Amino acid sequence: MNIIAFSKALYSTWIYYSPERLLFDSGEGVSTMLSNKIYAVRNVFLTHGHVDHIAGLWSIINTRNNAMGDREKPLTVYYPAGNRGIELYADFLKRANNELRFKLEFVPVKQNERIPIREQSSTTRYIKPFSVVHTYSETAYGYHLIEVRRRLKEEYRSLPKEEITRLVKSIGSDEITETYEKKVLTISGDTVLLKKEDIIDTEILFHECTFLKKEDRKFNNHASLDEVIELVKEANVQTLILYHISSRYVRSLERTLRKVNIPGTRILFVHPEKIFEY
Ligand SMILES: [Zn+2]
Ligand SMILES: [Zn+2]
Repeated sequence: MNIIAFSKALYSTWIYYSPERLLFDSGEGVSTMLSNKIYAVRNVFLTHGHVDHIAGLWSIINTRNNAMGDREKPLTVYYPAGNRGIELYADFLKRANNELRFKLEFVPVKQNERIPIREQSSTTRYIKPFSVVHTYSETAYGYHLIEVRRRLKEEYRSLPKEEITRLVKSIGSDEITETYEKKVLTISGDTVLLKKEDIIDTEILFHECTFLKKEDRKFNNHASLDEVIELVKEANVQTLILYHISSRYVRSLERTLRKVNIPGTRILFVHPEKIFEY
């Protein structure tokens, strides 16, 4: 299991990605539900400053400072640069907790910035924020977790295995391979429908899906099911996880989503009243 999440539109949203100890958003209840896993979290990435995405940060800080776990581990919280609400909240959290046992840092990030997550000879992974459109007053980001990988250059891909082995021996693997960037995970945050270029070829896509019916949407600041499905059909996504679903759909949710199908894409959803594990 690599992902634990909870998401109920308007109430609380958080996604914990354990392989890199990343927490995307920190809605209320996150420390209660993650319990001692809260000590494992290294970096928090906030998508925007609405309460349902940030309220749990206060208790994460408090839990890590007071419970019996490892209190020394630093915690870094990244957020969209210029987001006033988050800056005010960060200021409050720092003042209210001036005797922290661990290092707490708030770091503003800009879109397309590269935030290193893992840099080893075998694996390079980083976070890349991208701009999304939510409410008019809110600077909001989605986040990609990107892995730098190597593959054979186009001209060598059709060669038989023995030939490749021979080439590696004679001219070296660097000569015949190239690096490319693979989106391992994409988190949409609260947004209208994302752009195709943002989600193409991603392995796991969390796309918000506040509305199952477009007619229920009064303002254009969230996505609806039919448009997410249409978009993903064209985008070569391995796994689509719908989240930030409104609790008004609890009764009809499973019935509605059972009918949805995208060839080549696995579709899952975060039930608004249950912990999601994947
Ligand atoms: Zn929200
Ligand atoms: Zn929001």
